[in-house]
Amino acid sequence: MEKLFGVIGDPIGHSLSPAMHNAVFASLNMKAHYHPFHIKKESLGKSVAGMKELGVAGFNVTVPHKTSIIEFLDEVDPLAEAIGAVNTVVNENGRLKGCNTDGLGFIEALKTEWKQELGNENVLIIGAGGAAKAIYYTLASLGIKHITIANRNIENGKALISRCPFEVKSNVLNLEDASLILNEFTLVIQTTPIGMSPFIEHMPLDISNLRSGTFVSDIIYNPFETRFLAEAKSKGALTQNGLGMFINQGAVAFKLWTGVQPDTKLMKKVVLDLLGGSYANR
Ligand code: NAP
Repeated sequence: MEKLFGVIGDPIGHSLSPAMHNAVFASLNMKAHYHPFHIKKESLGKSVAGMKELGVAGFNVTVPHKTSIIEFLDEVDPLAEAIGAVNTVVNENGRLKGCNTDGLGFIEALKTEWKQELGNENVLIIGAGGAAKAIYYTLASLGIKHITIANRNIENGKALISRCPFEVKSNVLNLEDASLILNEFTLVIQTTPIGMSPFIEHMPLDISNLRSGTFVSDIIYNPFETRFLAEAKSKGALTQNGLGMFINQGAVAFKLWTGVQPDTKLMKKVVLDLLGGSYANR
């Protein structure tokens, strides 16, 4: 019997995940289909119960349900619980288990493109929202020594740090102060929506002090290259956009659902074809 997978969100029509996962199922001759489900906030509980009742094998969760879904699940894994957000649900013999693959997806992409052992980096994360938290907590769980958070609202940065269950030295700066000491960081991760429409022309912070050779990652992938990434590259930084994170969060989810490591090259090709244009890190 064909297995059903999917993604729930509102809006959902723009999601690249169905094409990405269906291409992998087809390439592996797996009897499975991945469907986008448009679920409004007010029907989340009933929808999740319906997914369980119908035996949906697994699904992704996107905006605005990543946090609110938790109360409707049977179990949440420790990392997703710490992050307070679920982007992947696995149906384990009728029990729905929530996981978070965003941070692991980011790390996988980083390892592919940076090709360095993670450990002693001095990391700066710009932003303190859901994606920043997933990346911060995953880096902390992997034993990274020091992470600075730079955020518009200092209190949100402090809250992110104080709730992290994994030990990591940290401090929080405002965006101006972080830009003054940018040359101290070896890895800079941009997680705010600055650089995306309608903020295409904006910069999250001044990068005059960025050192050549710094690895700079922006988790936005549409546009492929934000102004922040383009300016960092022109100052000699090694750059990476958010496409690898997106593909790898999907790959980690796919493996959780099926036990099979999917072909990330095929996933990337499908997504690039859908997005069109050229890809900065190809
Ligand atoms: P979020 O929870 O809403 O957090 C947004 C963060 O950006 C907050 O720290 C917020 O600061 C800051 N911010 C928002 N507007 C700002 C502005 N005008 N100036 C300065 N800072 C601002 O969002 P999220 O879920 O973390 O997503 C953030 C971005 O990551 C989005 O662009 C999303 O598309 C992208 N993303 C990519 C992937 C991927 O797979 N590549 C996965 C997830 C998310 P305050 O705390 O001060 O409000």
